Amino acid sequence: GTGELFFEREKGILIVISGPSCAGKGSVCKIISQNNPDIRLSISETTRQPRNSEKHGRDYFYISQECFKTRIQEGQYLEYATVYENFYGTPKDYVEDLLNSGFDVILEIDIQGAAKVRSNYKEGIYIFIVPPSMQELKRRIEERGTESKEQMEMRLNCAYYEMKNADDYSYIVINDELEDAAHRVQCIITAEKCRTERL
Ligand code: 5GP
Repeated sequence: GTGELFFEREKGILIVISGPSCAGKGSVCKIISQNNPDIRLSISETTRQPRNSEKHGRDYFYISQECFKTRIQEGQYLEYATVYENFYGTPKDYVEDLLNSGFDVILEIDIQGAAKVRSNYKEGIYIFIVPPSMQELKRRIEERGTESKEQMEMRLNCAYYEMKNADDYSYIVINDELEDAAHRVQCIITAEKCRTERL
């Protein structure tokens, strides 16, 4: 009939965003989700302590090591990884329910987690966000000031390693100006959703 919809997608797409600490992933993801009612942010579980500005249930679900280990055993994570000595995991049911309801879901996860997700969700969009330089990254980590000196060192060392692995991603976005970076990520998502393979 005339009411037939062409190319209606039933399931949402996974959008995986990685990048070193303080690359600005969180800010980019926030802008994207605010501008796109059909895109939801996944909220991870972590054993890390909350920062002062963070809220349980908004930034992360903060849980104990013991609880995290139980949930690993129960198969509750789509992926999980140890990052900077803490556990971080993506809740499986939450993300799959959203995808099945037709929402696209952003996972802001590290490169180990992204590698695991990639083996199960080949049709995902994989984006790596980088700061303009190591020097700028160092400045941003120091400016945020939420980590101890040792923590900052560790994050800087990991950043270097993560950047060397950026070529596993389909897209690299340099976050020099936040609005520009968010615009480029938006363009990538928009283009990807129009790909014929997805229709
Ligand atoms: P932060 O402690 O700065 O919030 O996050 C540290 C790192 O862990 C970031 O690279 C962040 O993307 C990553 N991360 C956050 N949630 C998850 C998750 O659920 N799984 C994985 N693999 N990494 C995560």
